[in-house]
Amino acid sequence: MFHTGLRSGTAVRPDEESAAGTELHFQRCRWCRTTTFQRLLCPTCGSTELNPELSEGEGVISVRRGVSAADADLWPVYMAEGFTVRCRVEGPLHAVRPGVRVKVASGVGVTGRRPVVRLCEDVPLDTWY
Ligand SMILES: [Zn+2]
Repeated sequence: MFHTGLRSGTAVRPDEESAAGTELHFQRCRWCRTTTFQRLLCPTCGSTELNPELSEGEGVISVRRGVSAADADLWPVYMAEGFTVRCRVEGPLHAVRPGVRVKVASGVGVTGRRPVVRLCEDVPLDTWY
């Protein structure tokens, strides 16, 4: 985390300043062990007994379809624990694509806010402006 250098600037968006941390919790079904995210029912067996667990925070960008311009930086991320969550992906546009490894940069601390992930891999710096 290298937030320190950004604090004097004006480019930091308020929702990132108030990030609650990098914790991302998911749910695991007590009965069939299916992992899911922010559901009321297990998508596999329909059970309501979903136990919260803490994710390692690492995943891979998945394929998306039919995204609107407003959601241009939202991608489904397939997490290591086997569930998929739509995240805001930070990084140069050309480097953000399915199959790229990402890590959670800010978890879900406020209702309705999307988790933010960052690219794990190094990308050429000449595209950062
Ligand atoms: Zn289940």
